[in-house]
Amino acid sequence: MTASSDEPPAEDRAGPPPGPPAENRAEDRAGPPPGTPAEGRAADRAELHAEPHGAALGTRLNWLRAAVLGANDGIVSTAGLVVGVAGATGDRTALLTAGLAGLLAGSMSMAAGEYVSVSTQRDSERAAIALERRELREQPDAELDELTGLLADRGLSREVAREAAVQLTERDALRAHARVELGIDPDALAEPWHAAVASFLAFTAGALLPLLAIVLPSASARLPVTVCSVLSALVLTGWWSARLGAARAGRAMLRNAGGGALAMAVTYGAGSLLGAVAL
Ligand SMILES: [Zn+2]
Repeated sequence: MTASSDEPPAEDRAGPPPGPPAENRAEDRAGPPPGTPAEGRAADRAELHAEPHGAALGTRLNWLRAAVLGANDGIVSTAGLVVGVAGATGDRTALLTAGLAGLLAGSMSMAAGEYVSVSTQRDSERAAIALERRELREQPDAELDELTGLLADRGLSREVAREAAVQLTERDALRAHARVELGIDPDALAEPWHAAVASFLAFTAGALLPLLAIVLPSASARLPVTVCSVLSALVLTGWWSARLGAARAGRAMLRNAGGGALAMAVTYGAGSLLGAVAL
């Protein structure tokens, strides 16, 4: 893949830039007929083969990234909560109650937020697809021109773009427009419930670590165990999210652990002050 990025962009090689749309398109319509059935089948196979890779990889990366971020949230917020309470009291029941309440409140809030945002996104994608379906029904010629223009903008010559647009339209016009024009796969719209359950689980998994770390050890080991395990986990999630985003891992790990350390320091300070005043 690196070799092809050294070549000049396709439109540089393809000759004349897309000219005044109206004239070009009129010529294109009069041009040669679409490819033979045999060519169409070959293109079918090629797309069937190429399609799962890009889409599946992108989806999997998004899911992983959301999972790591959710777990990270669960670690930081619950760690801040239980360390803050530990600053005020050594009572194990109070620590367990605070940690559990934080875990449930956080995971449900994450799930609800995710549900709302993914539902909204899906509604607007559905509306865009419905509009596209109507346009395809009412003005198929203009839509074919539009698809041709979009493909040409991506670096195909006018002739090839026209050919591609005609073939894509013959096979599944709505799908082609959804993908090229809207960047949506109509068969793979985001599912709000999936997103909600996934972020609930991710947050819970992250929150369990500081909860167990503060409740299980003896009173004297409680804070060091929690701080060490939380910082180690944040280094790990920082590294992982940097890897997923192809960013530099070192800085991400430091930043992530630093944020968690700051959260615990602030809540521990506040808890200690409150404990000193109230008890
Ligand atoms: Zn369209």
